[in-house]
Amino acid sequence: MTENDAAAAGIGRSGLVLEEPLLWERGRAGRSGMSVEESGLSAVRLPAEIAGDGPDWPNLSEPEVVRHYTRLSTWNFGVDTGMYPLGSCTMKYNPKINEFLASLPGFAKAHPLLPESAAQGALRLIRELEEFLAEIVGLEAATLQPAAGAHGELCGMLMIAAWHRQNGGRRDKVLIPDTAHGTNPASAAMCGMGEVKVPLGRDGCLETATVAGLMDEHTAGIMITNPNTLGLFESNLPEICRLVHERGGLVYADGANLNAIMGRVDMGKIGVDVLHYNLHKSMSTPHGGGGPGAGPVAVGERLIPYLPGPRVERLADGSHVWKRDLPLSIGRLHAFHGQFAVCLRAYAYILSLGPEIRTASGLAVLNANYLQAKLKHAFDLPFDRRCMHECVFTDAKQKKRGVSTLDMAKRLIDLGYHPPTVYFPLVVSGAMMIEPTESECKEDLDAFIAALLRVANEAENHPDLLRNAPVRSLAGRMDETTAARRPRLTGDMGRGGDA
Ligand SMILES: *Cc1c(COP(=O)(O)O)cnc(C)c1O
Repeated sequence: MTENDAAAAGIGRSGLVLEEPLLWERGRAGRSGMSVEESGLSAVRLPAEIAGDGPDWPNLSEPEVVRHYTRLSTWNFGVDTGMYPLGSCTMKYNPKINEFLASLPGFAKAHPLLPESAAQGALRLIRELEEFLAEIVGLEAATLQPAAGAHGELCGMLMIAAWHRQNGGRRDKVLIPDTAHGTNPASAAMCGMGEVKVPLGRDGCLETATVAGLMDEHTAGIMITNPNTLGLFESNLPEICRLVHERGGLVYADGANLNAIMGRVDMGKIGVDVLHYNLHKSMSTPHGGGGPGAGPVAVGERLIPYLPGPRVERLADGSHVWKRDLPLSIGRLHAFHGQFAVCLRAYAYILSLGPEIRTASGLAVLNANYLQAKLKHAFDLPFDRRCMHECVFTDAKQKKRGVSTLDMAKRLIDLGYHPPTVYFPLVVSGAMMIEPTESECKEDLDAFIAALLRVANEAENHPDLLRNAPVRSLAGRMDETTAARRPRLTGDMGRGGDA
């Protein structure tokens, strides 16, 4: 039986994989999940929006609801299900000890309006985590307020803008490399700054001369991702920082790729002024289906006065208080104290590892290099040098057989893998960006390598198979544009039909 016959025979949704209608399609008038005894009280007249024309809730029994959601939960793929090699996203394992500590009632039930005297533990945790995070990258102080990496970028750029205002200059442009994440120019724009694109150097890194040619008296600074989104260490960064500072600018480091360098690289010494973390990437907190994450920001000496407020301060007697008198602060960026429960998980992670956090980043880099070395004969490797925590291939070889990165990504689903990041970074045509993280053992890396080599082999010998993939999943190949613009959210998963 070929793969296509298998699809026609319904493999992938036979056995105990069941069709799943919407709750509205299942509901039957009069069905209910509970029975309440007649109370004997006279009827209460409900407001119109609840009674008569209220929401159109489906009528269902309790087992119908429980089964619906339990079945849907088995359709999820997560890092607890299998390898999730999504480059740039650091989908590392989220240790269960983090969850245990976050669920302790003293934390989980603490109210954000508790008086300082009743929240000493939480305040101490905030201060200590800020110190740990700053220490891990060699900077001086940190804030936990930003709720995501992109929010951290906004925080950092607001501080840079405030610093320039305070120091007598209005600068309204930022240098942003071609390889940057789209959030970088967006964050700069939200601070009223225009983007100046910095083209990539020949070896995949920024060149000092290029930056020198673009950096002028209207430029507030540069936003650099290190390692960059090609998974390469920006080796000219110290020189670039020196140049930007000489010409009156500041240096923002996008720390989304911190998993390659945690505890190993002193960003302060290199010359970075401000850096954001993505706790949901490097610090093992959940990505949570798009949120909540957390994007703390660390700064060097000169930006400390501009950090968001209020800030936790430790007094001489060891107690903690909120410091609100911060005349240069950019103000508040988040209600209360940031994503406290996410930060708590990161605190648990950092304390679990201690100085071993260096081993985590070392293993992440080793795993990525192992994959790169084992796969580079089968896939085009645009920058053939040692990588950091992720490696970037292209579909240049497979294109000759009419097979694209998208085809290969879809085929990986048939073979039991979440696809890697595709078509990013934009500077590489047909990019396939693989980030294994330190969570994978050698056997699992080898199995993933075998799957990718099988895909490369199929691209050579059975290209049609790939163009129709996936054939074993619940949903077949979708027209991705229609699926995004006009999603059909009901009924049958529509293999072979429209989106
Ligand atoms: C993920 C990422 C961001 C944005 O972070 P969010 O937490 O998703 O807002 C920014 N830059 C890079 C390089 C990233 O990988």
